[in-house]
Amino acid sequence: MNIRETTRAARIDGKAFAAGVRARVADHVAELTSVQGITPGLAVVLVGEDPASEVYVRNKARQTREVGMTGFEHKLAAETTQAELLALLARLNADPAVHGILVQLPLPRHIDTEAVLAAIDPAKDVDGFHVSNVGLLGTGQKALVPCTPLGCLMMLRDRLGSLRGLNAVVVGRSNIVGRPMAQLLLRDDCTVTVAHRHSRDLEAICRGADILVVAVGRPRMIPGDWIKPGATVIDVGINRIEAEDGRTRLVGDVDFDDAARVAGAITPVPGGVGPMTIACLLSNTLTACCRAHGLPEPEGLTA
Ligand code: NAP
Repeated sequence: MNIRETTRAARIDGKAFAAGVRARVADHVAELTSVQGITPGLAVVLVGEDPASEVYVRNKARQTREVGMTGFEHKLAAETTQAELLALLARLNADPAVHGILVQLPLPRHIDTEAVLAAIDPAKDVDGFHVSNVGLLGTGQKALVPCTPLGCLMMLRDRLGSLRGLNAVVVGRSNIVGRPMAQLLLRDDCTVTVAHRHSRDLEAICRGADILVVAVGRPRMIPGDWIKPGATVIDVGINRIEAEDGRTRLVGDVDFDDAARVAGAITPVPGGVGPMTIACLLSNTLTACCRAHGLPEPEGLTA
C-alpha cells in the first residue's frame, strides 16, 4: 500500500506573501502620486554582463514599474572605471527623482565594492548595506534594512504576531542576511543566538530555537531532528543541486520534507524567502521616499 506521509508544518507561501506586499506598496504609491504628486523612483546600477545579475535587474525593473514607481536603469560596461561609477552615484545621490539606489553585486574585480557602497547616500541606500544603516540598525535606530532579512521578519511577524521572548537562532553571519537578521530579531525582543562555522554543537543550538533562520548556502544541511517541535523555520538558502533525473533543481539549507514533519511552519525553497527580497526592495524605496518628503511611513512595510 502506498501510504502518503502527512506533513504537519504549515507551508509559508512567500510568493503569495510577496504579492501582498507589492499590492500594498502599489496602493501607497498610487496615493502618493495622486495626493502628493510624488512618484517614488528606484535607480538600479549594473556593471558588466553577469547573466544572473541581468535576470535580477530585469525582474527588479519590471516589478518597479508594476507597483507604479519610476525605474532608472543604468547598465554600464564591464570596463567602467571606479571613478566613472562613483560619478554616476554622485549624480543619482543629487537627483530628487531618485529615492532609492541599488548597485547590483557582485561588481567586477577592479572595483572596490566597499568604496562603492560607502558612496551611496544612506537615505537612498535601499539595500541597507551602507555602514551608517548597519550602525543605525545595530543601535536600534531607524534605518534602511537589508531586503532579505526584512522579508523574513515580515513573514515571522505575520505568522507569530509578537516575537517577544522567543528563542531565535540564526545560522550564518553574513552582512547581507545573518547579522542584520539577528539585529532585527533582537529589536523584536527575541533572545538571539547567531551560529556559524565555528559554533560547537550546532544541533543542540538549533533544537533550542522557537524561530530558526538558516542562511548558510549548504544544501539540506539542517535535518528534521535538529528542529524543535512546532518551531517556525525560515530557510534563506538557495542551492542548485543535481537531481536523480540528471536535471538541476533548487533546494534550501533545510531538508524541507524532513523538517516539515516537526516544524510548526516552514518556508519552502523555491517560493519562500526568495520572492520577498524584491518586494522588500520596493517597500524600502517607498519608505525612503516617504522619509525624504517628511511623510508618514507605510505601516507594516518597514522594520
Ligand atoms: P555567505 O556570505 O556565504 O555566509 C554563509 C554563512 O554560513 C557564514 O556566516 C558561514 O560561517 C556560515 N556557515 C557556512 N558553513 C557552515 C556550517 N557548516 N555550519 C554553520 N555555519 C556555516 O552566504 P549568504 O550570502 O548569507 O547566503 C546564504 C544562503 O542564502 C545562500 O544559499 C544564498 O544563495 C542565500 N541567499 C538567498 C537570498 C534570497 O533572496 N532568498 C538572499 C541572499 C542569500 P562563517 O562566517 O564562520 O564562515
